[in-house]
Amino acid sequence: MPEKRIVRLFCKRCQKWYEELLDPSELDLSPVGVFSVAFDHGDHVLTVFLDEQFAIRGDNVADKVAEDSQDEKSRALEYFEKY
Ligand SMILES: [Zn+2]
Repeated sequence: MPEKRIVRLFCKRCQKWYEELLDPSELDLSPVGVFSVAFDHGDHVLTVFLDEQFAIRGDNVADKVAEDSQDEKSRALEYFEKY
């Protein structure tokens, strides 16, 4: 059984370090040996790319679409439907 590993991650958006416990048995390890894990940071998602040694090969920060901006979009549509 593969052991759980603690991985230190830096989120550029938060400007903070995180320690995450990763359980290899819960991860979808790809045949090429690089896999990605996404962490929910509220208004953005940090995705890190790790190799089979749990070394970080890359990272990416993606914005999440906020709930209230979707409401504004639907209100805007209602406005246009009146004309
Ligand atoms: Zn973050």
